Amino acid sequence: MQNDEWRMRVYLTRFMTTEILPTDLPQEFKSAVDAAVRLLAAGEVVALPTETVYGLAADALNAEAVAKIFEAKERPTFDPLIVHLPHKKDLDTVAEVPETIAPVVKKLVERFWPGPLTIVLPKKACVPDLVTAGQPTVAVRASKDLVFTRVIRTFGKPLAAPSANRFGSISPTSANAVKAELDGVIPLILDGGACHFGLESTIIKIEPAAPKPLITILRPGPITPDDLKVFGRVQLVNKKSRNAPEVPGQLESHYAPRTPLRILDRPSDFIPEAGKKYALLSYRGEIADGYLDRHEWSAVHVLSPGKGKAPEAAVRFFFALRQLDNSGVDEIIAEPIPERGIGIAIMDRLRRAAVVK
Ligand code: AMP
Ligand code: MG
Repeated sequence: MQNDEWRMRVYLTRFMTTEILPTDLPQEFKSAVDAAVRLLAAGEVVALPTETVYGLAADALNAEAVAKIFEAKERPTFDPLIVHLPHKKDLDTVAEVPETIAPVVKKLVERFWPGPLTIVLPKKACVPDLVTAGQPTVAVRASKDLVFTRVIRTFGKPLAAPSANRFGSISPTSANAVKAELDGVIPLILDGGACHFGLESTIIKIEPAAPKPLITILRPGPITPDDLKVFGRVQLVNKKSRNAPEVPGQLESHYAPRTPLRILDRPSDFIPEAGKKYALLSYRGEIADGYLDRHEWSAVHVLSPGKGKAPEAAVRFFFALRQLDNSGVDEIIAEPIPERGIGIAIMDRLRRAAVVK
């Protein structure tokens, strides 16, 4: 595209009105789905709820439509997108399943789809290079969300849908959060309420191995290592391990608030600087944990009051981060969360949010 043309496009897209359509009542649901499908068929982008976070969707097989996702998110083109399928049986329309792992892929798909498990597989030629950042593999899943499912099945083709936020910033778990991120740059958001899980899908790759296939978790998420271990030997990509495969898009700084964020391993490590305002992202909000009483916090968000349950904390996580980011403090202090189950994924996001850009 010519430079001037591109500038004009950006100018035009920036001044778009962003509509939010409700989906609660049957008639609302139908007209919202129809409006989304019309835009997708015209090669436009639409923000849709999924069970993980809100996604910014476009026709996955139309490179020009996919380019609009990158443009709206200001996402670098080296960061590949996840492709969503209308039905789990559509897997072979976009991916080639190697015979060596076909049995385990079949079992995983049967067990977890539709749901928050993304599988990286060799891509078919119909998937544009822009979607996969030029790699020979494509990341695929099928969403369980009611609104998303109706839209993609009516549209009838795969959708590329990364999280509906500006690149590197906090993932949106509500329609309003999408609006805060992309107001004026996308035409439509379907409001499906708060996301069920609140964290992005688990991404895995599978390699044949004896006696069990090797399942590598490229991004931890709602499907936990325990959920996967019945299907193979599970390993988590560890950035620090020298043998760790390169994971595209798994950037060190991501999911980041504008306000600096620090994970405080021990409450006693906190030494406030005079004149600075601090917010606390608390796990359970229990005095006994030692954080709440440590300081006169300007703002506090408790992720899972009482016993502390990781799935509940996950649902609130990005919402709380967004609220604290807007609370006008100088720094957000975060309590660590036990790294079990979905707690592994929360800590992964928290660590990336804490990296100084
Ligand atoms: P999201 O922004 O939530 O849609 O997630 C997209 C992420 O999926 C990227 O940032 C990558 O980490 C991962 N991903 C997508 N495609 C691939 C692929 N072909 N191989 C490995 N990881 C991928
Ligand atoms: Mg994202």
